[in-house]
Amino acid sequence: MAKKLQTVRGIHDGLPADVARWRRVEHAAKAVFSRYAFDEVRLPLLEPTELFVRSIGEATDIVSKEMYCFEDQGGDHICLRPEGTAGSVRAYLQAGLTRAGVQRWYYAGPMFRRERPQKGRLRQFQQIGVEMFGVAGPLEDAEILAMARDFLAELGLKNIRMELNSLGCPACRPAYKDRLVEYLTERAARLCETCNDRISKNPMRVLDCKVESCQAQLTDAPEMVHHLCDDCDIHFTGVKEGLDALNVDYQLNPRIVRGLDYYNRTAFEIITDQLGAQGTVIAGGRYDGLVEELGGPATPAIGFAMGIERLAMLLPDEQGAVPDVAVVALGDSVKGYVLKLAAELRSRGLATVHCGGGSAKRQFKMADREGARFVLVVGDDEMNRGVVTLKQMDTGEQHTLTLDAAVELIAQKT
Ligand code: ATP
Ligand code: MG
Repeated sequence: MAKKLQTVRGIHDGLPADVARWRRVEHAAKAVFSRYAFDEVRLPLLEPTELFVRSIGEATDIVSKEMYCFEDQGGDHICLRPEGTAGSVRAYLQAGLTRAGVQRWYYAGPMFRRERPQKGRLRQFQQIGVEMFGVAGPLEDAEILAMARDFLAELGLKNIRMELNSLGCPACRPAYKDRLVEYLTERAARLCETCNDRISKNPMRVLDCKVESCQAQLTDAPEMVHHLCDDCDIHFTGVKEGLDALNVDYQLNPRIVRGLDYYNRTAFEIITDQLGAQGTVIAGGRYDGLVEELGGPATPAIGFAMGIERLAMLLPDEQGAVPDVAVVALGDSVKGYVLKLAAELRSRGLATVHCGGGSAKRQFKMADREGARFVLVVGDDEMNRGVVTLKQMDTGEQHTLTLDAAVELIAQKT
């Protein structure tokens, strides 16, 4: 027997029940982001590999081992995007928007990372991302965080906490990193292999190691927030003041470091306890150096991204599409007439399924399975008199009436 064809490991189909939840997430995002005057962009899934190497950084998990890259027929090095910020910056520069004033963008779509698949950790997943170019903060930082908070409220999600940190800047981070490396090196023997690897390559990532014995070694580790330069300190204070003014609840967490190299100053995560190790549903921060890094003028920027699947897991089940009306045709002679009636009902805005003709018993059984609230029955007699018989399924009530009257009755009850 031929091998069963299945999705690639770690990649899932979006079936109707999934998509219904994803759409709720997307609608909430669109509604809230529009109130903050953000515009949607749709950017490519394929980008030059170089873009991610230069922006995300070679020492990160994403670039070192998670990207799906290939050489195409023309020898170009191409990669399925693992995230949306790098592509957004590329698009911003490519379109020459650096003098066009503040840009506020959001996007939704699939991202690809070859990670170890787990619940809430997929190899193709969807993100909604937000990027704002041309504002230095700190009040805009607070507003971006408030926007994330408003989005979660719009979705009706509670029991989610926001954690905030400052990652400093190229002026103060190197000195901090030196102290951190010193601290970590002293404890290297008690840190896991990955952490040991990171001490030299990406020491701040050691701080968010998930291994418990590593965390135990880090209790007295130096914290970036205590080593900020004056400018970063003033910025951080401004963010916190803005958050207080906007009534945004947050906790400081010096372990929030973000996996990507390009972040500076404000970094934050929004976390739920309901998804175990995959509890981060939204993450983001400021990345003032990235536009310049990719060849543009120095341009401050801030953004965040959320995992649609992870958020969807927090939402209650949605009912699938339920028709308002199922249409039953009694006898071959009314077949065409009833098809037209079904089309007419749809044109009047009612979700309608046609039960396919044949025996009355089979058609009623189908109407029942569909969960239709009303069944509209038409035989020769109804056709000749220009009426329909309408049965309300929950009460069993039945009336013979004109189509107009039937539509009105259904509209009243739905
Ligand atoms: P994590 O720490 O969970 O690996 P991350 O720091 O790699 O997340 P980002 O790159 O900041 O995550 O992406 C933002 C959000 O996208 C995450 O908070 C999460 O909700 C979602 N996300 C990231 N990777 C995956 C994945 N492999 N599967 C599903 N969702 C993901
Ligand atoms: Mg990750």
